[in-house]
Amino acid sequence: MWSSLREVFARELVVLVDPTNPQHARRRKQLTVAVGTVFTLGMAAAMGVAPRNAYDDPQAPKVREAIRLPDLRTQLEQLTESDTENRYVREDRMQRGDTLATLLRRLGVEDPDAQAFILKNATARGLLNLDAGQAVQAEIDDRNLLVSLQANLGGDAAASRELVIERVAPKAEGGDYTYKARVQSVDNDVHYEMASGAIEAGGFFKAMDGANVPDEIVQQMISIFSGVIDFHHDIAKGDRFRIVYEAGFRDGAFVRNGRVVAIELINRNTLHQALWYAPEDSAAGAYYTFDGRSMKRPFLRSPVEFSRVSSGFGGRDHPLHHQWAQHKGVDFAAPQGTKVIATGDATVDFVGQQNGYGNIVVLQHAGGYSTYYAHLSGFAGLRQGQHVSQGQVIGYVGATGWATGPHLHYEFRFNDVPQNPLTITLMEAPALTGKSRTQFLTYTSAMLSRINMLRTYNVLTASN
Ligand SMILES: [Zn+2]
Repeated sequence: MWSSLREVFARELVVLVDPTNPQHARRRKQLTVAVGTVFTLGMAAAMGVAPRNAYDDPQAPKVREAIRLPDLRTQLEQLTESDTENRYVREDRMQRGDTLATLLRRLGVEDPDAQAFILKNATARGLLNLDAGQAVQAEIDDRNLLVSLQANLGGDAAASRELVIERVAPKAEGGDYTYKARVQSVDNDVHYEMASGAIEAGGFFKAMDGANVPDEIVQQMISIFSGVIDFHHDIAKGDRFRIVYEAGFRDGAFVRNGRVVAIELINRNTLHQALWYAPEDSAAGAYYTFDGRSMKRPFLRSPVEFSRVSSGFGGRDHPLHHQWAQHKGVDFAAPQGTKVIATGDATVDFVGQQNGYGNIVVLQHAGGYSTYYAHLSGFAGLRQGQHVSQGQVIGYVGATGWATGPHLHYEFRFNDVPQNPLTITLMEAPALTGKSRTQFLTYTSAMLSRINMLRTYNVLTASN
């Protein structure tokens, strides 16, 4: 059964990623419900279901919640069940500067006991952490007392965590109401969205906007390729991309985007493909090339955050770029204050000022490697001896020391001898082995043959 599902996935991926396919336009926005179900089953089985908390990461992009409309049937049932008490459901959105009191007032709740419970109960207090714009529903009785309240606390494309606060009837007549709070998981319908396009003169982000790729998907794309592509220097006009990503829907309404599941980037006629895969015996998934190599590298290609602001700065023909032979480093022109990130896991070896370098951070990595980040305008609260992780912000672009304008001077050393950082991409991650590799290849084999046909087509087209 799974092999046929994989077939469907492979076929649908090709339809999705190939704009010349006649079915493409029809599938462009989202797959039909039927195919969506097959996708969900097939991908869940083949890739392993993603950990639900993957997007609970505070760093993850926050997405506005879709309004979940009050269920009129429930209201009607309650009205007929209880002829002594009318209940109403109201919905509102969290606003900037809201307190619990102002939120409850807008929801029509006048209930000091409920308010006191929410402030006191650790689970219920989750309500106060909602972002502006997120929806909250309250059910109240005809005395404006709270019967129940629910709010979406976040999650990923596949499921949301929902906070539910409920009133509990008194055990004895004349007793007081009590309240209880819980967080429950609610499943979304996962659809697979697709986007494709080419980089034109307007640059990377313009192309992403043109193809309607949501910002959080763009961020994932940059992150997936961060070990193999320096988006500042490598992205070129004529590059092409194809992305398949998850989007969660509930009751037909968009809830949030999820994870990129398959991605292809043709960068200067070199094809890069990545696939999300979670080995069966592992809780954590990651991105792999189609031959089973992790996309992760010991070092990122760029030490400067690639953003809408920094992307157009200097341009790839900027005179500061790629002068490694002359001064043993690579310069990244970027606006003052752009985030500078550790290119690999490391210990802070030096943080402070050095002649010429200005404000500089030196990181010591495993295996005799060290990296230098110079001319910084400031540090991200670093101490010597502190551990930093790959991608962690360590400082900000500046023009301290001998610098004519804001840029990052980056050096990559092995046993203290400067190396050309452009060669670090040669450090390939080891491929999956043993059972994991067999599982991975089983999963990708059907897709591979299809994608390989596409590959011929792409490279021919891209070189035109
Ligand atoms: Zn330099």
